Amino acid sequence: MAHVKAEILLDVKNLTKYYPIKGNFFGKSKEVIKAVDGVSFQVKKGETFSIVGESGCGKSTTGMSLLRLTDATSGEIVFDQKNVLEMKKYEMQEYRKNIQVIFQDPYSSLNPKHSIKKILSEPFVINQTLSKTELEEKIISLLRLVGLDIHHLHRYPHEFSGGQRQRIGIARALALNPQIIVCDEPVSALDVSIQSQILNLLKSLQQKLGLTLIFISHDLSVVEHISDRIAVMYLGKIVETGTREEIFNNPQHPYTKALLSSVPIADPKQKKMKHRINIEGDIPSAKNPPKGCAFYSRCPVKMDKCNEVIPELRKVSPNHQALCHLI
Ligand code: ADP
Ligand code: MG
Repeated sequence: MAHVKAEILLDVKNLTKYYPIKGNFFGKSKEVIKAVDGVSFQVKKGETFSIVGESGCGKSTTGMSLLRLTDATSGEIVFDQKNVLEMKKYEMQEYRKNIQVIFQDPYSSLNPKHSIKKILSEPFVINQTLSKTELEEKIISLLRLVGLDIHHLHRYPHEFSGGQRQRIGIARALALNPQIIVCDEPVSALDVSIQSQILNLLKSLQQKLGLTLIFISHDLSVVEHISDRIAVMYLGKIVETGTREEIFNNPQHPYTKALLSSVPIADPKQKKMKHRINIEGDIPSAKNPPKGCAFYSRCPVKMDKCNEVIPELRKVSPNHQALCHLI
């Protein structure tokens, strides 16, 4: 658990990412998809900061912007007193060593023609000059760290199970001792039994190495045990943010309440069934976001005002904020 006054590692201010929509026969379209629409949050050293919300709400685009794998439209991402979005090439090289990523499907990011040895050598070959023995030692210690058999060095990605491939992905991400790992739906493609193995591995690596995790998931039950703080996203905006306890025990935004009510109860002793709130309708298009509150069309407790006025982020408690007129 991160300390209350832990160092802020990433300070994200008013981040936006608009995707232009292709024009038609008559020329360029001025319309955009507001994939990320003014998102602000801080990530503290050593914590797990989770971003949750339904598919399409802008979680991956936020993650990709932090990694600068996509160029944000506007905003600021401060790391080590510098704005990542304005870093020069040599500064980016240093930053990239510090922030790594693991994806939902490691298979698509592991070259099928390369052995595990080759895959895990790549970060070192690009960044460092190591002797053959030093390189081999590094790779073996990485495999041990993620719980893979060192005799698997000469095997290829297709020879591994999904869980093992995710371990290879994690080993590669750890190669250059990053401070931050963005985990984008890292267990969503795995069987439930394997999911907890990978989550436990990430948690123990975090403790061992002092890692900071930014954990992206569409599933609140996945982030329940790993998160220190959680941001709930809806249609490109953070609608609620708070400590794990605040989000799970005292949710304020109707969207968070609905998401939570659909999380299965893990404790079989807890007999009382939760009242399930169904969210009706689809998410509005990020192309034509609503005039007032983004959640208006699906909100079970909406008022007239909500259709007209965009709510501001309100403080529920010092560690808890929500974007709703009812707070
Ligand atoms: P999530 O990860 O929460 O499922 P994404 O960040 O992938 O959401 O997508 C957010 C929105 O941006 C969606 O409406 C999606 O269709 C759109 N989007 C994502 N990537 C692109 C792209 N490369 N070009 C155009 N639109 C995109
Ligand atoms: Mg995604």
